[in-house]
Amino acid sequence: MRALTFHGKGRIKCEDVPEPKIEAAGDVVIKVTSCAICGSDLHIYNGVMPHMHHGDVLGHETMGEVVEAGSDVTKLRVGDRVVVPFSIACGECFFCKRGLFSGCERSNPDSDVARKYWMNSPAGLFGYSHMLGGYAGGQAEYLRVPYADVGPIKVPEGMTDDQALFLSDIFPTGYMAAEHCDIRQGDTIAVWGCGPVGQMAIRSAFLLGAERVFAIDCVAERLTMAAEAGAHCINFRDCDVVEVLLDKTRGRGADGCIDAVGTEPDAMTSIDAMVDQVKVATYVGTDRPVVLRQAIHACRNWGVVSVVGVYGGYIDKLPFGSAMNRGITIRTGQTPVQRYMPLLLNHIEEGRFDPTFVITHKGKLEDGPDLYRAFRDKLGGCVKVVLQP
Ligand code: NAD
Ligand code: ZN
Ligand code: ZN
Repeated sequence: MRALTFHGKGRIKCEDVPEPKIEAAGDVVIKVTSCAICGSDLHIYNGVMPHMHHGDVLGHETMGEVVEAGSDVTKLRVGDRVVVPFSIACGECFFCKRGLFSGCERSNPDSDVARKYWMNSPAGLFGYSHMLGGYAGGQAEYLRVPYADVGPIKVPEGMTDDQALFLSDIFPTGYMAAEHCDIRQGDTIAVWGCGPVGQMAIRSAFLLGAERVFAIDCVAERLTMAAEAGAHCINFRDCDVVEVLLDKTRGRGADGCIDAVGTEPDAMTSIDAMVDQVKVATYVGTDRPVVLRQAIHACRNWGVVSVVGVYGGYIDKLPFGSAMNRGITIRTGQTPVQRYMPLLLNHIEEGRFDPTFVITHKGKLEDGPDLYRAFRDKLGGCVKVVLQP
């Protein structure tokens, strides 16, 4: 079958790989009808994610039709149309029982590798290295889905792929980012990053009752998309973001600050961002946390800093004194997608949320290498890419 594979920093190929098979009685195999490229895939593409092997199949935002089901699968049948959460979860362990699926303690066979970095292991993820399970990803014609009774959710008849696909990741992730802010009517929320995740967070913040949302980025088309949702835009290249936010909130700061950027911010964001860049390039540092610093500084006393942008290691020069003395809560996590899927599917069905607005580019798997580049370099107004194998 055809699939997008990793071949080192900046090199992705569309090539033939073996088709996946049922490996455990709880698996299904799906024929992929739509899949997407995520900002998290860019960390792999940019060579930031360790433990990737040449030829690894990429992708974790995938949906399709069940073509084969293991003997223990009870909830799905051949022919069902499903969307698959990016986090793989057993459904039975300590964390899964509490709904914290992205903390599953059984789904990452590489947990010993993850422990070397993080002392403990999160769940396995599709297409996301030999530190998080070594699972083949879903930017391919077929995908093996383990724990099929726990992860995939059936797509109602009449709902299009474009409507359902983002239940796999970015809609739940943006929604969780906003939910973590404990939004009350009248609140002001600031969102750093107007990529696909930031866009979902902005609209979710309004859905949850925010009165004002500030959207921060430097890419014109992305800021325009945020403005279309009703957000006030701040171009971080033109001003001091923290000063602007304090100014707009009577000096208090935003009630909730969402980091939807993570470890790879624009290197020209600020002087400290440039210093971070040098530290990472010379292996003196692991992450580039300029957005996290700004989010803490721009957050009001007792507000929430909600982090969904991905970080990998140790954070330097974090203003933790500011956070501690002012009572700021920091919430974060890989999204336990399974927990949000039924609610958000309902929001789509009932017309309260239409995630299709974010799609700007479509193609076949063969277009994947070019579209990865377009997404990374934000060419031609690219915000979100959907591939149809
Ligand atoms: P993306 O790369 O398309 O978006 C990032 C955006 O941040 C870009 O538009 C960029 O211009 C902007 N940006 C760069 N520097 C900035 C700065 N200093 N201030 C404000 N904005 C800045 O990616 P995406 O798909 O939207 O994903 C965003 C982040 O969320 C990534 O780190 C991704 O790995 C992460 N993510 C996390 C989860 C999770 O479960 N927690 C799930 C999906 C994605
Ligand atoms: Zn993702
Ligand atoms: Zn589990």
